[in-house]
Formats: sequence, structure tokens, C-alpha cells
Amino acid sequence: MPPDPAKPHIAVCPGSYDPITKGHVDIITRASEIFDELIVTVINASVRKDRALFTAEERVGFIQDATAHLTNVRVDTFDVLIVEYARRVGASAIVKGLRAISDFEYELEMNQLNRHLAGDIESVYLMASPQYSFLSSSGVKEIATFGGDVSDLVPDEVAKRLKEALAR
Ligand code: ADP
Repeated sequence: MPPDPAKPHIAVCPGSYDPITKGHVDIITRASEIFDELIVTVINASVRKDRALFTAEERVGFIQDATAHLTNVRVDTFDVLIVEYARRVGASAIVKGLRAISDFEYELEMNQLNRHLAGDIESVYLMASPQYSFLSSSGVKEIATFGGDVSDLVPDEVAKRLKEALAR
């Protein structure tokens, strides 16, 4: 069915964002130009095995700071299936960024599962920009753990807070 022109096109952009990187900001910026409204949503589920470095509130705060200039972007958290969350907020699409082949394999599997659960919600993939195609939150944390400089990879406030968090 073609989209209803009277209805805003809302998309969700889910992730752990622990913490947000310039690669995420790039995807969010590009997606915000495609959709009427973009909801960046941070997973806040205790079922996840790997413990996050930053709390969900801290991660939300970093994203809000980094996207404050994008007027059609808002930030939220979720702790249900992403397709269920998308339905709740009236989104018709899930936006993901794709870096390497490894992202593709994982995303293909997630896509099949989400399609099975909710065939009406489409997933949309944006290719990572070349300068960020090897950038991940876990890589940034590893560099920062060993005292490396991450100021080119994450927003300034995140770089500062990473230094403090990992010094503890
Ligand atoms: P990470 O894999 O860095 O921990 P998340 O789980 O927070 O990231 O990912 C949220 C979304 O952002 C995913 O769709 C992921 O593929 C995408 N993403 C993460 N880093 C980048 C990047 N450097 N370029 C493009 N997309 C990215």
C-alpha cells in the first residue's frame, strides 16, 4: 500500500549506543533527512548479557547532546522487541547502519526474524560512510581503556566522560 501523504513517516533507529560514536551520528543525520521524524532508541534491557559501561540515562544524554541540532530527532529507551516498540510509537521503518560483512550476516538474521514477527514494519539499511566503516562503540572503549585518543571518533563530551569512566 502506498504511504498516506497526510501521515508523518516515522522511523526508529535502535542500538546500544554504549557510547554514541561519530559513526552513529552520521547514520542518524542521514536518516533524519529521509524521514519526517526519527526516534533514536537505546536498548535498556537487563536480559542483555554484556554489561554496559554507561547507564541508559547517560547514553540518552550523550545522544541528545550530539543530535540537539537535528530538530526532527528525539531520543528514547526501549525494553521490548524492537518491532513492538516501533508499533507503539507509530513507526513504519527501522533504520540500521551497515559496516562490514559481519554486520550484514547479523542484520540479515534479525531482518528475517523481525519480518516473521511484523511484516508491516520495513527495515532500511544505510551503508556506513567510509571514514567510519571500522568504528564501533566496543572499539572505542578498548582504545580508551589503554589510554588512546578517541577524540576523532566520538563527540567531545563522550571522549571526556570515557576518560573519566575508565580511569575509575
Ligand atoms: P555498536 O555495534 O557500535 O555497539 P550499536 O549496537 O549501538 O553499535 O548499533 C546501533 C546501530 O548503529 C547498528 O545498526 C549498527 O550497525 C550501527 N552502527 C554502529 N556503528 C556504526 C558506524 N560506524 N557506521 C555506521 N553504522 C554504525
